[in-house]
Amino acid sequence: MQAFEYANPTTVKDAVGMLSAQWGEADVLAGGTDLLSLMKEYTHTPKRVVNIKGIKELGGIQKTSSGLRIGAVVTLDELATNAAVRSEYPSLVQAALGVTSPQIRNMGTVGGDLCQRPRCWYFRQGFGILGQDKNGKSLVQTGENRFHAIFPQAPAFYVNPSSLAPALIALGARVTITGPNGSRELSVEKLFVVPKTNKDRELALAANEILTAINLPPAKGIKNATYEVRQKQALDWPLTTASVALKMKGSTVTSASIVLGHVGPAPVQAKQAEAMLAGKALTPDLAADAGKAAANGAQPMSGTAYKVQLVRTAVKRALLEAMKQRA
Ligand SMILES: Cc1cc2nc3c(=O)[nH]c(=O)nc-3n(C[C@H](O)[C@H](O)[C@H](O)COP(=O)(O)OP(=O)(O)OC[C@H]3O[C@@H](n4cnc5c(N)ncnc54)[C@H](O)[C@@H]3O)c2cc1C
Repeated sequence: MQAFEYANPTTVKDAVGMLSAQWGEADVLAGGTDLLSLMKEYTHTPKRVVNIKGIKELGGIQKTSSGLRIGAVVTLDELATNAAVRSEYPSLVQAALGVTSPQIRNMGTVGGDLCQRPRCWYFRQGFGILGQDKNGKSLVQTGENRFHAIFPQAPAFYVNPSSLAPALIALGARVTITGPNGSRELSVEKLFVVPKTNKDRELALAANEILTAINLPPAKGIKNATYEVRQKQALDWPLTTASVALKMKGSTVTSASIVLGHVGPAPVQAKQAEAMLAGKALTPDLAADAGKAAANGAQPMSGTAYKVQLVRTAVKRALLEAMKQRA
């Protein structure tokens, strides 16, 4: 690992001041469960690391007049065990518990989960976020790509690694971001951007901005669930995730939000499937049809065709799981 300066600020203002406007100069350190491996692999070689875990204003889960505020350094374990989260946002609890290691849940933070870098092995081995050779040709398309996208956005073929992101998007969450010019809010959906070159980042964050909180609207009466398909129950990322949030009138769905994870460089909103459910009573057959619709338009690569069926199954099962919840 390259030697670095370590900063331990106690306010967001100081932390922002210790970052740099240039990527690569300084990195935010939260739980370190991703950053330290990036540094050990020399994928990140910051001159300075700014620890934000000691900043009190970044902690805690509070009910607000507009829903729930989750501080960026709340750990995945705190999230999954919080009573307010458990009562209204089961899809978020399921997503957090999907990170199967208690150690990672104890150290990893919600802000870090959203900001973690892609697990694409080309990226992690130094071929840039787009995984290209020196002539700009994609190594992913012609190489080993079984954990990559079926909804690519060329030239990006990696998948967004966050398990929380699909659930947060389906629930209509927003993030607060703070930088040298103050704070701004963004929908979680808009936090993820697709890089066009290897110099671009995959998050709508500047190098000297910090994700400070996640704001969830109330979800009372909204049935919501996450279903993940994994290769194994032990430590690993899901192969495919579906998170759903359903507004209901009696047994009729009035509107549905269905978001897929780990199938594209950003979470994918399954709009066709959402439209199919609106105004109908949800039955197992309709859930299966919505699953099929969610996979429409998939463009699998040589190793990812299997994910098409995983999308169908994950959406169907997430919908059936949500239906079991009492309104
Ligand atoms: C074996 C293993 C299995 C895993 N399985 C899953 C899984 O199934 N699903 C899943 O979603 N994740 C999974 N993870 C990832 C894990 O959830 C993340 O590593 C963790 O959430 C990152 O949080 P952290 O606080 O440790 O971030 P750090 O490692 O401290 O930071 C990660 C990145 O985000 C940046 N960052 C962190 N916080 C902020 C902030 N507030 N503002 C701006 N930038 C920030 C850092 O600079 C760094 O680039 C797994 C990790 C491991 C090691």
